[in-house]
Amino acid sequence: MTDVPSFKLFNSLTRQLEPFEPVHPGEARVYSCGPTVYNYPHIGNMRAYVFADILGRTLSFKGYKLTHVINITDVGHLTDDADSGEDKLEKAAAENAQSIWDIAQHYTEAYWDDIKALNIRQPAEWSIATKYISQMVEFAQGIAEKHCYELDSGLYFDVSTVADYGRLARSATDEEGEGRIEKVEGKRHAADFAIWRKTAPGETRQMEWDSPWGKGAPGWHLECSVMSGRLLGFPFDIHTGGIDHREIHHPNEIAQNQAFCCTNGLDEAANSGARIWMHNNFLVERSGKMSKSSGEFLRLQLLIDKGFHPLAYRMMCLQAHYRSELEFSWDGLSAALTRLKRMLMQIETLKARCADAAVPPGEHVGPWTQRDGWSLEQIEGEVSDKLAPVLGKFAAAICDDLGTPIALTAIEDILAIKKVDPGETLRVAAAMDSVLGLDLLKVSRADLRIRPKAAGVSEAEIEDAMIRRQEARAAKDFDASDAIRDQLAAKGVEVMDGDPLGWEWTISG
Ligand code: AMP
Ligand code: ZN
Repeated sequence: MTDVPSFKLFNSLTRQLEPFEPVHPGEARVYSCGPTVYNYPHIGNMRAYVFADILGRTLSFKGYKLTHVINITDVGHLTDDADSGEDKLEKAAAENAQSIWDIAQHYTEAYWDDIKALNIRQPAEWSIATKYISQMVEFAQGIAEKHCYELDSGLYFDVSTVADYGRLARSATDEEGEGRIEKVEGKRHAADFAIWRKTAPGETRQMEWDSPWGKGAPGWHLECSVMSGRLLGFPFDIHTGGIDHREIHHPNEIAQNQAFCCTNGLDEAANSGARIWMHNNFLVERSGKMSKSSGEFLRLQLLIDKGFHPLAYRMMCLQAHYRSELEFSWDGLSAALTRLKRMLMQIETLKARCADAAVPPGEHVGPWTQRDGWSLEQIEGEVSDKLAPVLGKFAAAICDDLGTPIALTAIEDILAIKKVDPGETLRVAAAMDSVLGLDLLKVSRADLRIRPKAAGVSEAEIEDAMIRRQEARAAKDFDASDAIRDQLAAKGVEVMDGDPLGWEWTISG
């Protein structure tokens, strides 16, 4: 391929597409704000990590040595993103009469289960906030004199001490800040925020630590400044999070980073601690089931319980650009599942053709699965003229601010091209999938069939009935075959004669 597409990402700080230029040649260092582990993540939260995963995979595909850090917030995040409300974890622990540490552990593991199910790659480090308390105190001590003031309730950051406060949110004025943040007695500016929250007299907290400002807990924004700076070094390349973080959490992190590194303004993006700040837009759901406080909410397990493979949700995410809002619907999820099935069916056919061709083992038997990661350079060196333009389309799409919707169509184009060595097609598809992470070469169509939790019938029973029905049809006993179909329907099993995707039956959830 002759044209190497330039790799551009949308920087929320400048609101512009910018070429990616690594701070350290050949490397990419990325920090993603992780979950607050007081409850299960909802599928909207998981969209943020699918996005960060696509970013990381694209950086690897472009040949950068990736260091990705995702944090786990187990302290400090209040029920409001600013300084009002209660600590989310303390509240959950009190409501459930449980140890806060057990709560954090349980929901961290549940989050990791979802990460795995969605084929999100493990970061280099999961940084857990409570393991960095002494470093947070040290960081706060370093900036306290010039940038903070103490009140009875804690140590507060004075946002007027750094240049361009709030540029990321485009809401620098105090009036705007006034509207969005509940007043804390004695704060100098409405947007000033807690670096350290003192335990109030008479209050009991399960999580509290000593500090120069008394017993208490760190403010939420402090942890990400400390862990990103410690683990990746300021400035690092890319900081990610959901679009809500563009308003409060990240402007405050930036202010802290400026205080720690240099107070210069943000025309030089690196002064913010990271060169590029990226934000995924929200997954929305009209009936409000996304909210964790609304009883049954949309978590990945609910999708699985209804018979949807988690990768169908990943597909749904990739069908939208990460900066667009995405509306969740069950029909949309079904359509994503069908699209995935169709791709897997084509891949199964290609694999069978490879097996049919009398090629020596090792040539075609799994070369597409034997490598962990592919680089664009490597696959470009292997691709024939027939497939090169589609690989070019894929690379251009993904390098254009992670254009997954077009990248998906490039995979479909490759799978549809006729008269090409199937092994080559599979290799190129595998290389593309190393970016999209749909696990196309490993998952089979049968894996996608998940029994809804409410189904009162087993696969074995269905398969048995299907055989009996086949026999009845062969004997032209259509009454018997129809009766079997009706019995299956009564149990929620739909018989799908002639399904173009080759599914003979499906159970409704
Ligand atoms: P939290 O656990 O609330 O700290 O959120 C974890 C991540 O999910 C953050 O990056 C949020 O910005 C992001 N997030 C929260 N709600 C949604 C949503 N509905 N769609 C996409 N991302 C979200
Ligand atoms: Zn954060």
